This record gives sequence, structure tokens and C-alpha cells, in this order.
Amino acid sequence: MKTALTAIALALLSTPLLANPPSDEARQLAQKLIIVDTHIDAPGMLQDGWRDLSGETDREFDWPKSRAGGLDVAFMSIYTSAAEDAAGTAYGIANQQIDAVWALASRAPDKFAVLTSPRDIPRLRRNGRVLLPLGMENGAPLAGKIENLHFFYKRGVRYITLAHSAANALADSSYGAARKWNGLSPFGREVVTEMNRLGMMVDVSHISDDAAAEAIALSRAPVIASHSAFRHFTPDFERNISDALAKAVAASGGVVQIPFGTAFVNPQAAANLQAKFRQRDALQQRNAAARAAGQPEESVAEWEAAWAHEHPRLSTDIEAVLAQIDYGVKLVGIDHIGIGSDFDGVGGELPEQLRSVADFPRLIDGLKARGYSETDIGKIMGGNLLRVWREVEALALVADRH
Ligand SMILES: [Zn+2]
Repeated sequence: MKTALTAIALALLSTPLLANPPSDEARQLAQKLIIVDTHIDAPGMLQDGWRDLSGETDREFDWPKSRAGGLDVAFMSIYTSAAEDAAGTAYGIANQQIDAVWALASRAPDKFAVLTSPRDIPRLRRNGRVLLPLGMENGAPLAGKIENLHFFYKRGVRYITLAHSAANALADSSYGAARKWNGLSPFGREVVTEMNRLGMMVDVSHISDDAAAEAIALSRAPVIASHSAFRHFTPDFERNISDALAKAVAASGGVVQIPFGTAFVNPQAAANLQAKFRQRDALQQRNAAARAAGQPEESVAEWEAAWAHEHPRLSTDIEAVLAQIDYGVKLVGIDHIGIGSDFDGVGGELPEQLRSVADFPRLIDGLKARGYSETDIGKIMGGNLLRVWREVEALALVADRH
């Protein structure tokens, strides 16, 4: 019979990194560096259930955890789904999420500030403020109108992931079986050109390979992948970036930001997710045909529940994230890899040692163990993304900004 103590000992043995807190060196370096995370889904979580993120919460991102982890620049993801796009509600939902971020900053001006330019970092970062730039995940809120791009720029949005889980008015998605545009739409091309003029970063995460290749070729400025792991580890999973496209992002001067979610860094989880999207797509098409023929539809909720039951959660180690970073650095160079965690966006399916923004020092310890210098760690943890953002801003036509 196992005693409680043996159980604890076994648990500690099976999670050696959890048993050891991050080193003092890593904690100090995390405080010293400007850490930038390009993808945190706090705004959508706030919409689902409000929390005061300036205090201790049960979320993966809040102010105390950011300070503990040394996070300085936390891109707030303004995410809308394909279903919201179809329902015509994406514009309103995006505005509500942007309101939530501005409200967060104005209620706790000593702890947060919305960040609209990398120039403002030294001034705003003083006294431990966590800075909140806005990244829009899915171009659906533009509702097909270029004037909405100007509107969202004025509201503070500084990157747009052109599409999410289905083709939209701008681009095809990596998840959607149907390829509506075989790349970008004419409107998508107009948006990329205009984003360059305004000084917004073009984000090729989530979109199809053809759409990404077209966006990179069209953009005058460096392009980012805000949260994309390497397909090298997850063959056939188009959501992760191919070696060829990663090289194209780097050649543009841009950066590939590595996510932490199990679904992206664990090969079996990635295969499951890809299959799930394909099968749900097929189910929705069957339902559309049934609707048209006046036949009963299958329940999507029941299908989702059955899928979850047949595919239990998989666990992943921090080493899987470090392996992604290593691979990327060898493939495209130290100047073109960063981090886009996807905290608060993956239902807690994360490596055991990377549970929240408080855990960045553990990642730093992992990078040190793999031989990265302090300078290299600084580039990966935020320096590269800030270089790209400054360059995108410098290439914008300033006269057209307002
Ligand atoms: Zn995403």
C-alpha cells in the first residue's frame, strides 16, 4: 500500500523540474530583460468570466504573475471565431474585448498601460507596469471594410492574424478543408498593403500555406508568425509553420514566435487537433446539406463531447518547447525566433512547468541549460519581436497614420 509520503516522493520524481524552483540567476535575468509574449488570450477570458487581473487570480495571466515571471509586454489577443464571423458579431465582440483591455489599464494605471508603440516602452515600463499592446486574432472584425482597419489601428491594434479556423473575407485558414481563395482574397491583399502603410504587423499564424506565402511576398515590412510551432515536429499539421515558410518569414526580417500549448508542440496532440477540425468541418457540411434538404441535423455539441471522451488530454514537458526553439534557431537563426505562449487560450493544456506567465524563469533556465548566452536569451524572450515592431513602424508612411 502506498503511503501519502511515497506518493509525494513519486510525484516529485516524475516532475523533476517542478520540484526545483527556477534558479535565482534565471529570476534575475527575467526581471532585467524586456520579455515580450505575442499571444495571451486574456481579453476573451475576461468576456467569458470577469476577473480583476491587477490582482491574484486563477488565470494564466495577471499582474502579480507577470511581475513574478518578468513579463513586460503582453500582447492581448482580440480573438473572434469563425462562427462569430458567420453570425456577423465579430466587429462588436472585438470592440468589447478592446474596451476590456483599455478599462483594465485605466482602472490600474500604476500596474498596466496599453502600448501602441515600442518607443513608449522605457517610459511606461517604469515602476513595474505590465504593458498591453493589442493583437487581433482573425481579420473578421474588419467586416470587409478597409475603413475598419483604420478604426482598429486607432483603437490600438498593432498586429492582425489574417484568418483563424476558417476562410474569412481576407484569407484561407490552415484548419479549413475548403480553400476559398487559394491564398489571400483581393481584400486580404488590400489589407496587407494598408497594414504596411499604417505600421501594423502582418501575422501569418493560422492561415493556409498559400495565404502565408502570398502575405510574406506582398508585405514591404517584416512579417511575424505570432504563435506558430514548427511543422517539422508535427507532420501534416498545417497550423504549424513549414520550414520553407519560416525561412521566408526570417528573410522578410521577421520572427516566428513559439507557442507553449500541448496541441502545437506534442505530435500526437497536433494530429488529434487536425483530425478534429477536419471531421467537424465534414459534420458541418453534412448539416448544411441536411438543412437545405429539410432533414434533421446532427448535434455538434454531442459530437464534440464524444470527441473529447475518445481523446483524453495528453501531457507535455517543457523540453518540447525548448526543442522547438532550438530547431528554429538552427533553421532560421537567433534573430528570428521568439515566444507567443497562447496562455489563457488553450484550456490549460500546457507543459507542466509552463503553467502561467510566472514560469518564464523556468524557460530561461532551460535555455541556459542548452547553452544560450544572456544576449541570445534576450533576443528570444523579446528583443527580436521589438526589433521587428520598430522596423514595421519605421517603414510605415507616417503622414498617413491619422
Ligand atoms: Zn490561435
